[in-house]
Amino acid sequence: MIKIKNLIIILLLITVPFLMTVDAAAKKNILVLHSYHQGLEWTDQISEGIRSVFPYKDEVKIYYEYLDTKRNYSQKYYEKLISLYREKARIINFDAIIVSDNAAFNFILKYGEELYPQTPVIFCGVNNLNKNLLKNHEDICGIVEKAEHRKIINLILKLHPDLNKLIIINDQTLTGKNIKSELKLILKEYENRLDYEIWDSFTIDELQNRLVKMDKNNVIYLLVLNRDKNGNFISYNQGINIIRGVSNNPIYGAWDFFLGKGIVGGKLISAQAQGREAALMAKKIISDQKDLSGKVVYDNGNDYFFDYLELKEFDINKDELPANSKIINQPEPFLEKNYQFLFWGLIFLAAIIVVLLIIFYFKYKEKKKIEKLNRELEEKVRARTKELRKMVITDELTGLFNRRRILELLEKELAKCRRYQRNLSVIMMDLDFFKDINDSYGHQFGDQVLKKIGYILQENTRKLDLVGRYGGEEFLLILPETELEKASLVAEKLRQKIKKAEIKGQDLRLTASFGTAQFDDDLSHQLIKKADDLLYKAKAKGRDRVES
Ligand code: GH3
Ligand code: MG
Ligand code: MG
Repeated sequence: MIKIKNLIIILLLITVPFLMTVDAAAKKNILVLHSYHQGLEWTDQISEGIRSVFPYKDEVKIYYEYLDTKRNYSQKYYEKLISLYREKARIINFDAIIVSDNAAFNFILKYGEELYPQTPVIFCGVNNLNKNLLKNHEDICGIVEKAEHRKIINLILKLHPDLNKLIIINDQTLTGKNIKSELKLILKEYENRLDYEIWDSFTIDELQNRLVKMDKNNVIYLLVLNRDKNGNFISYNQGINIIRGVSNNPIYGAWDFFLGKGIVGGKLISAQAQGREAALMAKKIISDQKDLSGKVVYDNGNDYFFDYLELKEFDINKDELPANSKIINQPEPFLEKNYQFLFWGLIFLAAIIVVLLIIFYFKYKEKKKIEKLNRELEEKVRARTKELRKMVITDELTGLFNRRRILELLEKELAKCRRYQRNLSVIMMDLDFFKDINDSYGHQFGDQVLKKIGYILQENTRKLDLVGRYGGEEFLLILPETELEKASLVAEKLRQKIKKAEIKGQDLRLTASFGTAQFDDDLSHQLIKKADDLLYKAKAKGRDRVES
């Protein structure tokens, strides 16, 4: 039993370290050696760039060390760091080292071989690279951080034609010094075109006093500002605030850590891009994809960046900026910002309009329908009224004027006669022995006879003459502009027509008696009576005759 137990323990002791080695072999270790400290935006952004290539879940472990040289740079400090790193290096083997910025780069050139022998080094953020330094370090490669002073100065000259002096603000850190020597070479090219001053030795108060007195046509070119002349550390935020706080002059920069804090813009170096590019190189190296030894990248893809708020402040037109410039703090165009709202708003409005249109359409249709109905109704009323009117004035059987109407017309005609001294005669006519016709042939036949008589009277008188049915088989004719003699002739003609008329094919001869009278300033009933009396006279004299 004990033997078995021991065997298991022995087995475990053998396998566990083996398993651990498998694990260690699968994982790669990368040391990131920063020149500065955690919390410095530049340095943190480089880390972020590196992280974008090696996310946490990756099989690559990242170890960070910070030289913290913005704040500590004594020889004694370095010595202590070296002994610390030497101690740590005994525990972990690194597959690659990424160094950021000049201090770490110089550190690794000097102590790398001793601390991390035969480990490939990838640098980024290195200014003013002296390629001779790389001669004895074949497995070093990296990205040079190169501020594009020429392009930035040209940009300033273009955007500020009134510029009378360029104030270059810099510090005296290692970086600051490197930048200054680089820049001085370039400034020589502008000798007669550009007046400039380099300010790099000052306390914060001194700097601010100088800034306050600045001419309004001066432009500031802010390089790095991490230390004052007494060695006090200044953060990026502090640095830009010190300047922007007292100066109303436009500020240009070469690094993106001042963007959005008060600089107009420039062709800016991005810490993230530096970190990312270095990490991509490191990735290739640790996966043995490519031997990048000695490769130095100079084009680190700096882009033109501008701050919309500063452009507005200094009245700089966007059109004057270089092509492909990126602008931060730009208000989203109204349309884009409110796209969703506008989109649904428009749909909602359109829906309302459609609904309203539908409602209006139906209302309109209804209105048209009602109008049509009204028109039809009015038409019907008109027709009906006309019919009624006709009924009121017409004798139904013969179609002649009825008694009421013919008497009305007589009054009117007599009024005209009285006023204009005109002639008028009337004829009163009565059918002879009509009762016998009814008796012999029936009442309906009598009706047909009356109709025919009406027709004869109408046909044989003038248009001007008015013919009416006065009673059952008695008719009254008004003859305007007619003297008695002529009226008698008309009556005579009618008498003969009636007598000759063939009635409904029956061998039957009908006669009528007539009394004619002329208007002699009579009232209507007097005139009618005159004609009526004469009619009775004709009856008495044997009928079928005209009396006047
Ligand atoms: P006279 O020669 O004296 O006038 O004789 P008459 O028969 O014509 O006269 P009477 O007054 O005796 O009779 C009139 C007749 O006319 C009576 C009536 O039957 C007939 N009559 C009146 N109105 C109508 C009518 O609308 N239709 C028909 N069929 N007959 C009518
Ligand atoms: Mg009669
Ligand atoms: Mg009669």
